[in-house]
Amino acid sequence: MKVKIWGTRGSLAAPGADTARYGGNTSCVEVRGDDGTVLVLDAGTGIRALGAALAGTVRRVDVLLTHLHMDHIQGLGFFAPLYDPKVDVHIWGPCSPMFDLRGRLMRYLSPPLFPVHLRDLPCQLSLHGVPGPELAIGKLRIASALVCHPGPTVGYRISSPRGVVVYLPDHEPALGVRDFPQQPQWTSGYDIAAHADLLIHDAQYDDDEYASRVGWGHSTVEQAIKFAILAEVRHLVPFHHDPAHDDRKLDNLLDAARASNPPFPVSPGAEGTTFAVGE
Ligand SMILES: [Zn+2]
Ligand SMILES: [Zn+2]
Repeated sequence: MKVKIWGTRGSLAAPGADTARYGGNTSCVEVRGDDGTVLVLDAGTGIRALGAALAGTVRRVDVLLTHLHMDHIQGLGFFAPLYDPKVDVHIWGPCSPMFDLRGRLMRYLSPPLFPVHLRDLPCQLSLHGVPGPELAIGKLRIASALVCHPGPTVGYRISSPRGVVVYLPDHEPALGVRDFPQQPQWTSGYDIAAHADLLIHDAQYDDDEYASRVGWGHSTVEQAIKFAILAEVRHLVPFHHDPAHDDRKLDNLLDAARASNPPFPVSPGAEGTTFAVGE
């Protein structure tokens, strides 16, 4: 599998000279199977450039939404394959107790928030609720599970015959846990993340920021490392950077993370970065 980061920012896009190296676009990651299967993880503002790159090259694309906070869907209406009648677009995402995925997405993809109704998109659109049984898309298998974050939110585990990528961009496994982490079986996200080759995980805050934001649904860089050690992953990508963290702040946070000598490489989530998994 090839993994490419198109947007790594959390909460709100933060473009500008001070964030140019890590990137200002919100969450979007491309996963491409060896058989050409294309998965898109979240539809933050990073999806616009991905859609432009995909235009005219795919017949099917699957967009896997972790949840429907704006930083994960804001780019959806600007995703070029949605406007191509020759493309099958499947969107997967969590329902709520009140509405199915279509009802929830329609709240954004309709006036006054967006000029085009979801039902008027020219592509061949299919919507599917998650979590559910493991899926097979091309040669990739996809598992999903609810994780700790405000509102229905899932994490995804994508397995190819040769490797596993796990995506947990918004996740607060330390919430309500004294001396995090405790036993794996009681830890949010553990089953979906265990033994991943590549874990892309929430690392929004430093320790001081977290102290006043407990329950907001995010992790510190240190908590992301502790979670990754518990799950025995092989490579960690800190992701979903706070919009207030400029490149220098992120350099410092990641230097501190590496200085703790975790038993795996730590590669910053930065726009344009690619990873080869299982090769
Ligand atoms: Zn988010
Ligand atoms: Zn969120």
